[in-house]
Amino acid sequence: MMTESRPEYLEGLLSGPLSADASAAAESAPQPVIVEPNLVEVSREFPRELLDQEAVRVVRRLNEGGHRAYLVGGCVRDLLFGLRPKDFDVVTSAEPAQIKKLFRNCRIIGRRFRLAHIYFRDKIIEVATFRAATPPNGESDGQGDGELIIRDDNVFGDPESDAVRRDFTVNALFYDVDKKLILDYVGGVQDAEARMIRTIGNPHIRLREDPIRMLRAVRLAARIGCAVDDETIAATRAYGRDILDAAAPRIHEDLQRMFSGGAMAPAFDMLLSYGVLEVILPELTTHLREAYEFEGIEELESMRSLLQHADRWTQAGRELSPAVRMALLLAPVLLTPLGGDTTRRDAGTQLTEALRPIAQRLSISKKECERVRQVLVALGKMVPRAGKRRRFSVAAFVKRAYFPDALDFFELITEATGELRDEAERWRKKMDEFPAPPAPEKPKRPRRRRPR
Ligand code: ATP
Ligand code: MG
Repeated sequence: MMTESRPEYLEGLLSGPLSADASAAAESAPQPVIVEPNLVEVSREFPRELLDQEAVRVVRRLNEGGHRAYLVGGCVRDLLFGLRPKDFDVVTSAEPAQIKKLFRNCRIIGRRFRLAHIYFRDKIIEVATFRAATPPNGESDGQGDGELIIRDDNVFGDPESDAVRRDFTVNALFYDVDKKLILDYVGGVQDAEARMIRTIGNPHIRLREDPIRMLRAVRLAARIGCAVDDETIAATRAYGRDILDAAAPRIHEDLQRMFSGGAMAPAFDMLLSYGVLEVILPELTTHLREAYEFEGIEELESMRSLLQHADRWTQAGRELSPAVRMALLLAPVLLTPLGGDTTRRDAGTQLTEALRPIAQRLSISKKECERVRQVLVALGKMVPRAGKRRRFSVAAFVKRAYFPDALDFFELITEATGELRDEAERWRKKMDEFPAPPAPEKPKRPRRRRPR
């Protein structure tokens, strides 16, 4: 066998569940990370149209108030990679009460860590005070002397401590808008130039402190199109199981963010390669592995091709709903057990059963599960079948609230496989022919309040 020529994602799939050795290494508790910040200043001018002028004004107002203030985090990273940032965050030496004094349109939010939100017509700029890493176990600064007061996590810090508490070097950069200078305490500019996602400090510690960072690394690398450094990958392989210790809603949120940016396919490859898919969706890796043993790489490749087509849609501005994205990911697992002779009612029940453990693990809402189920069941009605089938009203079917999602899903499959494209076209025409009634603006019955 020419093992060398196998793509990494296939290697990841075939290497199977994490080795016992690697999991055993994850037993001991992580020690706090010690990173020596080392300031490097890099002068950089970003195109004015990529900089949010309101964020720039917020920074200037803080400066005029006598405080240090910078753009920080994802926006500086995106600018450095030549991308248009989604949102702009500001970090400052001013404490929340001082920030509030400077802005009329400001609200302080957060119970554990207080932040300022500055409101504009179409956006909110988040302003945080420089902060230090939260002590492990959520302890506060130790002044409580055994008191049971839960102090908030406002452990204020300085730029150095604020930089090193962040996850990846490219996410820890400050931008001084007036001096047009990047303040880099952690080697992030160099890593950005090498197109590399690297944890700040030892990944074997940083990823265990917060296993969600493993998903964040994949999301970032997939979206920007860069690599994850080898040590960070090795630590992900070793401690991937810890992801399931994180709160399920956090896992869900990060997966949704990972799959919504038009980079599902590269993210999927990385999840496979780094053994993360095995942890979050073992049903899928087992299925793909069995399919590989049975018939070779075909099933895996058709799944990757489907995701690549979905990415093309997203990049072209055609948004897919979260349920469609979930259906794309789960279709091989959920549809394969349904034989051709399964009735629609049986299919619905089986899908609900199969979805349950996945939904629980990934905190997928009931509503989203239901939509995934509807999309997959609808597929059975959209594919033409020889022989007798139950009759149904086409007009009623295409007016269903789930139909647009079902059609997107069907159309993507026809595009990726090159088969039944006319059929997708035909269904789209039907949908135009029988437009759905507008969704009611308010639910008919007011939701009952829980009795107090
Ligand atoms: P995006 O553009 O997708 O929003 P982002 O980097 O801005 O990416 P956010 O989740 O908005 O991501 O986080 C903002 C910043 O907060 C990050 O750039 C990073 O510096 C820091 N951060 C977020 N999550 C973590 C984490 N789990 N551990 C350490 N730092 C984090
Ligand atoms: Mg952000």
